[in-house]
Amino acid sequence: MTHKSKENIGSRRGKAYGKVKGQYNQPTVRKRIEALFLDNIGKVMTRDMIIKAATDPTTGRQPENWHQRLSELRTDSGYTILSWRDDVSLAVEEYLMPTRERRPIAAKRVKPTKECWDAVLGQAKHACEWDEDGQLCGLKEGDTDPVGGGKVKLTPDHKSPHSMKPDTDRADPNQWRALCGRHQVMKKNYWDNQTGKLNITAILQAATEKDKKAALDLLLKYFGYSLAQTG
Ligand SMILES: [Zn+2]
Repeated sequence: MTHKSKENIGSRRGKAYGKVKGQYNQPTVRKRIEALFLDNIGKVMTRDMIIKAATDPTTGRQPENWHQRLSELRTDSGYTILSWRDDVSLAVEEYLMPTRERRPIAAKRVKPTKECWDAVLGQAKHACEWDEDGQLCGLKEGDTDPVGGGKVKLTPDHKSPHSMKPDTDRADPNQWRALCGRHQVMKKNYWDNQTGKLNITAILQAATEKDKKAALDLLLKYFGYSLAQTG
């Protein structure tokens, strides 16, 4: 795969940039970002536009956690918001909502008891337990997330998404792990809770470069190409 082929796909689609219409007065960062995207369906929104719209209308404070709120619009509100990870025509820090349609939202999740959660945090040494190729994320509560920005908050993640005994699990520390906000969102993206189907795209986005390459190799072979021919 060369850069050239990537640019070709991008230029074929063309880009239409959206507009930030004055000040957004919605009460929360998430609602202001939601309003911005709904005003600009099918248009490219840049990081700067999003921060401008998300800025507190009263205090003028720019939110440091805007990226987390944007992720929640995907996972909690069911919106589709594309980034460069989903669409080669988008550059880094460009985002696009193709439709105002929303996916159905999953039911509220079961949480561990206070004692159970304290035990999980103790075992985790108060650090994110997301495992990527044997390497743990390791971000601690209150750290600044170097990728997503904002302060790290650890929350409980049920290890098996389709547990048959959610009530007894609430007190069992072995059923839970601690994850930072960014990895919580990544994990949530893996499953469509409504259909019980895997979200292959989300999994590939989160995969390591090594795993992405293996997947690409598999797909190229499947469609009759090989990496050697295209590189
Ligand atoms: Zn993490």
